[in-house]
Amino acid sequence: MTADDIFGAELRANADYVDAFALSGLEAVAGAGLAVLTCMDSRIEPLAMLGLTPGDAKILRNAGARVTDDVLRTLVLARYLLGVKRVMIIAHTRCRMAGASESDVHSAIHAMGGPDTRSISFLVATDQAQALRTDVQRARSWPYLGDIPVGGFMYDVESGRVTRAC
Ligand SMILES: [Zn+2]
Repeated sequence: MTADDIFGAELRANADYVDAFALSGLEAVAGAGLAVLTCMDSRIEPLAMLGLTPGDAKILRNAGARVTDDVLRTLVLARYLLGVKRVMIIAHTRCRMAGASESDVHSAIHAMGGPDTRSISFLVATDQAQALRTDVQRARSWPYLGDIPVGGFMYDVESGRVTRAC
């Protein structure tokens, strides 16, 4: 199988996208002064669920919407070079990274034929609400970010509703 076979559908779709492309000339700064950290979950539409369009916000995603060193690194750049003045951290219901334990995830990967992943910390949250509060506080306390508002939120994958958590 060649790379074109594997990614062919997406590249053909991109050709249509190029034909209709209307985002030329957008600025790299976040037009709404917003950064959004959320989960990689494919049920989440970060822009649409917040009434945003391309150009409005910096979108950061990882498994579980966790505030990692790399998220903090990225937010410092976004804050000082890309117009970000507010940060939303949005966890979600039915997240694979919440509710189970770290060892459950290692076992699940192994059961799927994967390697022994026990040397990796997946940042699984057994108490999702507490993990969100801790992550929000970590961002608020990060001295390089300065004094900008950081809020914690929960997205409901069944209703689409975003509610403030902290
Ligand atoms: Zn998730």
